[in-house]
This record gives sequence, C-alpha cells and structure tokens, in this order.
Amino acid sequence: MASFSHIHAGWLIDGSVDSIQQNVIIHVNKGIIHTITPAAQVRLSNATPSDPEKSYLDLTAYTLLPLLVDCHVHLFMSGTPDITARKHQLDAGYDELKHVIADHIRQHIASGVGAVRDGGDRQGFSQRYRQEVLNAEDAEPGSCPLTGYADRTAMSGLCCRIAGKAWHHAGRYGKLIGRTPNTDETLAEAMQRESCLPGYIRPDHVKIVNSGVNSLLCFGKETLPQFSYEEMSSAVRLAAQQGLKTMVHANGGAPVQIAVEAGCHSIEHGFFMGEDNLARMRDHQTTWIPTAFTMRAYAATLLPSSREAATALRNLDHQRDQIRRARDMGVRIALGTDAGSMGVHHGVAVKEELRILMEAGFSLPEAVCCATRNGADLLEIPEIGLLKPGKPAAWIAVKGSPSLLPGSLCDIKRWDAI
Ligand SMILES: [Zn+2]
Repeated sequence: MASFSHIHAGWLIDGSVDSIQQNVIIHVNKGIIHTITPAAQVRLSNATPSDPEKSYLDLTAYTLLPLLVDCHVHLFMSGTPDITARKHQLDAGYDELKHVIADHIRQHIASGVGAVRDGGDRQGFSQRYRQEVLNAEDAEPGSCPLTGYADRTAMSGLCCRIAGKAWHHAGRYGKLIGRTPNTDETLAEAMQRESCLPGYIRPDHVKIVNSGVNSLLCFGKETLPQFSYEEMSSAVRLAAQQGLKTMVHANGGAPVQIAVEAGCHSIEHGFFMGEDNLARMRDHQTTWIPTAFTMRAYAATLLPSSREAATALRNLDHQRDQIRRARDMGVRIALGTDAGSMGVHHGVAVKEELRILMEAGFSLPEAVCCATRNGADLLEIPEIGLLKPGKPAAWIAVKGSPSLLPGSLCDIKRWDAI
C-alpha cells in the first residue's frame, strides 16, 4: 500500500462525541496519526496533489470514520431467514462451518468493521477457528496490523474477541450458543473445572445467559433469571480473577438487575429491563448492547400480517424508548447487532443498528461513538475506535457528506493502515 503522509478529508467523525470536523488535513507518520489540522492552516509545501510520491491523498469528497466495532455477533451462524438452513448450521461440523465463519469475517471487513465480539456458539467453533486459522503459529505474521493476528482467509484485519461456548442453566434458553454446568455444581465451579481440563482454550471473555428470549406472542412477557445473584456474582468474580470480562444476555427486570449488581461488564439485549436498571447500569458503569435491529429484522422476515411481526415491531418501539431514556440518563451504550440472528446479516447490520440509535435521538457523532469508541473500550482494543493524534491511521471513508450517513455505509473504502 502506498504510504501517504497527508490525507485531506472532506469531513471527519473521529469517534468522540465532539462535533463533526470539516476540511481537515490528517498528517500521518509511520502509520500513526500525528496531527489533524484545518486545511486552511496547512501549507502543503512538500505534499501536494501533484506530488510524484503520492504522499497526498485526496479524500475531500469523503467522510472519514474510525473502523466500526460490533460488540455482539455469532460468527458461526448466518442471518439467513431460511429455517432449514438455520437448523442445519446448528448441527454442521467444523469443516463446513469454518468456511461460514471465514465468510462472515470477510463480510465484516467489507462493511468497515475492525473488531467483533462473539457471543458464543455451542460447539466452540469460532474459538477453534481463531486458534487454528487466525492465530496459528505457521500463519503469516502481521497480516492484521491492528491485532497482530494473521488471517490468511480474510487477508486483512478483523480483531475477533471470542467467548467460545456460553453458559446457561440446564433446561433454560441458551442451548444454541452454549452448555450448562453439571447438576452437582454451581456456575463458578463449572467454569473452574473446565479451565483445568486438558486442551482448554482460554476464552477472550465469558458469556452467561440469564433470561429467556423475547416472546413474539406476548408483548413484554418476562422470564425468570437463570442464575441467582450469589451464583452470578461468584461467576463474575472468578472470571475477573482469570482476567476475563463477563457479558450477560438478560431481558426483563430481575435478570438484568442480578447481572448488573453482580458486576458484569455488559448487558446484552436488555429488552424490558426498566428505568431502575438503566440507573443501575449508569451507577455501575455497565455497558449496554441493545441489539434493537434484531426486532426490525424479525418483523421483516415474518408474515407482515402475523401477530409475531406486530409484536416484534412493538418490541422495537419499546427498546427505542429505552435507548432514548438511556441516552438522557448517561448510560454507556455500545453497538452490537446479534449478527447471525434471523435476518441480521454480518457486517451490513451495523448500519441498521446505527440507524436505530439515531432514531432514538442520538446525534450522528454520538451514534458513531457507540459504534466505535465505546465498543473499542469495552473490548479493550485501544488501537481502534478513535481517530486522534497517536492512534493508528486506520479508517473507513464513505462518499459524500455526513448527511448521507448511515445509508452511505453501504459502500465504504477502507484503510487498515496508511
Ligand atoms: Zn446473541
């Protein structure tokens, strides 16, 4: 890739919640952003559009954004609405699903996503893929400038943070994405036992399922928590001792309350959690991943006149109201799509979730912050999420002014490093 030292951006949304910058020169030195300066103040004596070494890159017709972060995906599952195909992918073997995982990684990269957090698969294939392909000892080093992971399949950078198999309670929701403790052990005991097994692959974080899914027949129906406060807090504490954050699937009042008070790092979904839980999350500095687009996607794949489609849209409205309230209250939101759910396609779904944040009252820079910086903070990947001096020169560019976002994310140009 050509090495550009001056990039002239029409507009820049840097991932913080500050206003959008217009007509700026980004000075890059050895792949790192050195300065960002209004173009009117820069004299490009050594770097002009006619510079034979092409050290000047003209992106004046583009808006630049940090690489996106999707905090909730399932790499082993596609978003196909075909029920037979969905069943098949749950039972398929690794040799088949490794190609599916590779495809999904490509789709994320093509959509401008720089990092994903996987929320679990029942056979742990995403973790195995990372171990065998992305992180293999004989893989070419450095093909991902952000992570150091080699990725011979995608040939570019997607940082994958992977839970492996999620934990759920026996007889409750979660079999699609995980496994249960044995009948004679607590959740923490099961986690401890497993971490001592030969061949254990350390996950990047722990995923726990603490409620059911949203009913599409009975609006707002809550399910009981899967784990008690004592069990959840022991598990979160053990994970922390192992250096791992905990993400908890939770909908409804009691399941969310238990997870937040137990000290989990993020609440996934959080439908119908209520305002008291929003206040708890703000006070505990818990990040919320609302995955609201799932409901719009369900509605689009179901028969429009069906009760299920109508309920999905009511769920979306309710969740959008909770997001609006969370913004007012100062709850930290990071974008996650639940890609792999029905109708939620890897990569492209990010712009749809971004759209819902804006429908709920987030300004464009605020919504982009949820989709970049807040996710990078949660995943602890300081290399991405912000375009500021000292950060790597890695970004996406979309044609036209910011007023065309988020729709313009359907056609991106991407630089993983300049
Ligand atoms: Zn999920």
